[in-house]
Amino acid sequence: MTDLTITDVRLTPILVADPPLLNTQGLHQPYTPRLIVEVVTADGVTGVGETYGDAKYLELARPFAERLTGRQVSDLNGLFAIADEVSVDDARVDNQVDVGGLRGVQTADKLRLSVVSGFEVACLDALGKALGLPVHALLGGKLRDSVEYSAYLFYKNADHPDGIPSEKDDWGAALDPAGVVAQARLFHERYGFESFKLKGGCFEPDQEIAAIKALAEAFPGKPLRLDPNGAWSVETSLKVAAELKDVLEYLEDPALGTPAMAEVAAKAGVPLATNMCVTTFAEIQEAFTTGAVQVVLSDHHYWGGLRNTQQLAAICRTFGVGVSMHSNTHLGISLAAMTHVAATVPNLHHACDSHYPWQSEDVLTERLTFRDGKVAVSDAPGLGVELDRAKVESLHQRWLDENYAHLRDRDDAAAMRVLDPEWVTPSVPRW
Ligand SMILES: [Mg+2]
Repeated sequence: MTDLTITDVRLTPILVADPPLLNTQGLHQPYTPRLIVEVVTADGVTGVGETYGDAKYLELARPFAERLTGRQVSDLNGLFAIADEVSVDDARVDNQVDVGGLRGVQTADKLRLSVVSGFEVACLDALGKALGLPVHALLGGKLRDSVEYSAYLFYKNADHPDGIPSEKDDWGAALDPAGVVAQARLFHERYGFESFKLKGGCFEPDQEIAAIKALAEAFPGKPLRLDPNGAWSVETSLKVAAELKDVLEYLEDPALGTPAMAEVAAKAGVPLATNMCVTTFAEIQEAFTTGAVQVVLSDHHYWGGLRNTQQLAAICRTFGVGVSMHSNTHLGISLAAMTHVAATVPNLHHACDSHYPWQSEDVLTERLTFRDGKVAVSDAPGLGVELDRAKVESLHQRWLDENYAHLRDRDDAAAMRVLDPEWVTPSVPRW
């Protein structure tokens, strides 16, 4: 009889290389924090998960891990009860604008769910390995053999500013329409992506309109998206929508907050997507009943795991709202988890976002690959990935290194200040 009792839990914070990508808040740091979660069963089966690694997540993950020992990896509902027991300083985190993640207002609840997801994925991986079943089978079974992803285009500098040593990437700079198109061509050549999303909110809207028009010319008929992370007023959003409605698949979070999104949606003539105004179950009702969003970009990290993602998809289906996936800087464990759950969602009609091509480092023995813009759904037990302990250890050593200690909490505005000492996080709407 298989013994599914959890006998050990390992938490390993790491710093992974990240290119100098721009967003409306600033610049990606040269290294970004992630947390690797491992749960070990009495039979010696190890399951792996991954989530955000900033201090506020570690503070929650540590007491969470202590409570896991002795429980069953199959007790996924029990993870939410544990989350209720571990506390954070609500006053410290509530209602701050989430730094770096750009996923709406930060709350203690969202932090807790982001920690739950790391453990949920690790438990599902262990359970699948113990039973000889892939994670998608534990979620009801795959509906497709591969999952389509979009090219995630960024305005980007060629190099990180001088400060600490950083990894050199081979993407070059992209700071105007020609640079964005060149980057898109590279994405298409290297990975076969057939749809393209540009992270906007960095330059005057006219410049970003020009970039999308240049993409439409370079890739006629391909789905295009633009995401300024709520940087625009309703008026600016409508102006951009009028310019781009014939070429956009959807406009993502043009304005901040559900009422502003509803105002834009009523007149835009193009679907609106969000990973900022619908980020919790509590936010769904207002957004759906006011018609503020037509596509919800789920993210299993902050929605609380793969099963919550399926529940979100079912609610979207009920209301005739589309569903796809948001992505923040992540490694192969999370890409595997995203792919398993995406394979089980019937109403997934848009290519998912993934930062993965930007991550030159990983903690796996073998990186996941995109072919024709798609990741194959693994039928191997668990997630179908294997942790490379030497890589985890080396990225953990970087996290321990005092020279990098200031990067343990992601702060895109601080990273931008290394380049531009006058930089402050722009107030919203920026344009
Ligand atoms: Mg977004």
